[in-house]
Order: sequence, then structure tokens, then C-alpha cells
Amino acid sequence: MTRRRWIADKLQGDRAFLRGQNAHHLARVLRAKVGQEFDIVCDGTVRLGRITAVADDEVAFDLGAEVPQAETRPITLLLAVFKFDRMEWAIEKATELGVAAIQPVIARRTDAHLAHAADKRAERWRRIAHEAAQQSRRLSPPAIAEPVKLQETLNPEGTRILLAESTAETTLAKALENAASGSVVLAVGPEGGWAEEELSAFRAAGWTFASLGDTILRAETAAIAALAIASAFPQK
Ligand code: SAM
Repeated sequence: MTRRRWIADKLQGDRAFLRGQNAHHLARVLRAKVGQEFDIVCDGTVRLGRITAVADDEVAFDLGAEVPQAETRPITLLLAVFKFDRMEWAIEKATELGVAAIQPVIARRTDAHLAHAADKRAERWRRIAHEAAQQSRRLSPPAIAEPVKLQETLNPEGTRILLAESTAETTLAKALENAASGSVVLAVGPEGGWAEEELSAFRAAGWTFASLGDTILRAETAAIAALAIASAFPQK
């Protein structure tokens, strides 16, 4: 049975407390009762929580046993910076789909003003990821790194897969089937696509070029499609 999960606002030994909007939602909207059980996220683990007190601004729980979690494959999204409103939509959806980390990348065809403004935007991206993690009941939000130039992030740990709309040698599903165990990095290009010299740099660094199909997808669509496919491949 899937119990609704909440992220604890305060922990005290084997007691947890939900506060603010979440407490109000649980108390007034869901009309929670003393004795009801929920999954409570406590510092990165999930424990069974039984309600001991309900008030409009605070719900208190007694914490019981740890609830085992399915082991997933850590996926990092290397995302070329593109129009902020659509990039932020992609960050929200990628968080819901369980991405472990997002590395924003300044690509050759990233608009100059976006490249310039990206550094100042990273904090906002982290807030968006935090809210989406809460909403999707993740144990913790994905790590969002500072934006960097592509050259600085061509050799990450794990299986390296470049989503390529025209020069792919395989499909994403096949690339994931053949992937070694451990983490995976998925790279998605900017609106204008990767430049030739960037594609050569990816090839030289041993990235697998994978297709998501014959149609040209917008960057945010490609990112979400790739994560949805990858999240279907459990840890080996
Ligand atoms: N330069 C391309 C064009 O206009 O022909 C479009 C680039 S596309 C908007 C942005 C990124 O999405 C690409 O660099 C690639 O990473 C990814 N992408 C889009 N469609 C894809 C597909 N069918 N297969 C794999 N990746 C795709």
C-alpha cells in the first residue's frame, strides 16, 4: 500500500512535525486524524509516522520503522542552457521524474544573454527543484550545479549518453540496455543543437550518441522523454 509521504519540517528524536502549508493541508483539506499513518521523510530516509496530534499549523507524528525504498539508477542531466521559462519547466519535470543531478551547460549556441544571466538564475532553479521535490514526495531535491562551459564537464563519472537528433548510432533504450551498472549522464543540446566541434568533443570523450526517434524534439521535450525512458531501467 502506498502511503502519502510528507517531508518533516522539524525532527525531535523519534518525533516529527509538519508545519505551515503542509500542516494546514493535512489537517484541514485531508482532515487527518490521530492514529493515521503516513510516510515521513527524515533527513534522507523514510520512516513510518503515526499522527499523535493535529492542529491547523502543526501535525505531530511518532516515528516508527524505516520504510525500504526501491533502488534507482542515479541519472544526471547535462542540460544546455536554453530559454529560461522552458528550461525551468524542464527542471520541474526532471525533478518529478527522479533526476539525481542537473548540470546546466553553456553551449556554443546558447544565446549570449542567457549564458550571461545563467549564473544568477541557478538559485531560482534550486528553489524550483526543491518545490517539485516536495510536491513529488522525493527524499531530497536533485543537486543543481553552477552553469559551466561544455569543456569543463565532458568527462563525468558513469555511462555517458548524448541525445542526438541527427547523428545517433543507436536508440536511447538500447544504449541503456548496454550500459554498465551505476550512474548515467544524459546530455541534451540547446535549441540550435550542438555545434560540430562540440559533437566531435563528445565523441572524443567516449559519449554514446542516442536517438529518441525521427522527429526533432524541443530541448525540454527531449530531456523529459529521455528521463522517462531512463527511469524505466532499474539499477543493475
Ligand atoms: N538543431 C536541431 C535542429 O533544429 O535541427 C534541434 C535541436 S533540439 C531542439 C535540442 C536538443 O534536443 C538536441 O540537441 C538533442 O539533444 C535533443 N533532441 C531533439 N530531438 C531529438 C531526437 N529525435 N533524438 C535525440 N535527441 C533529440
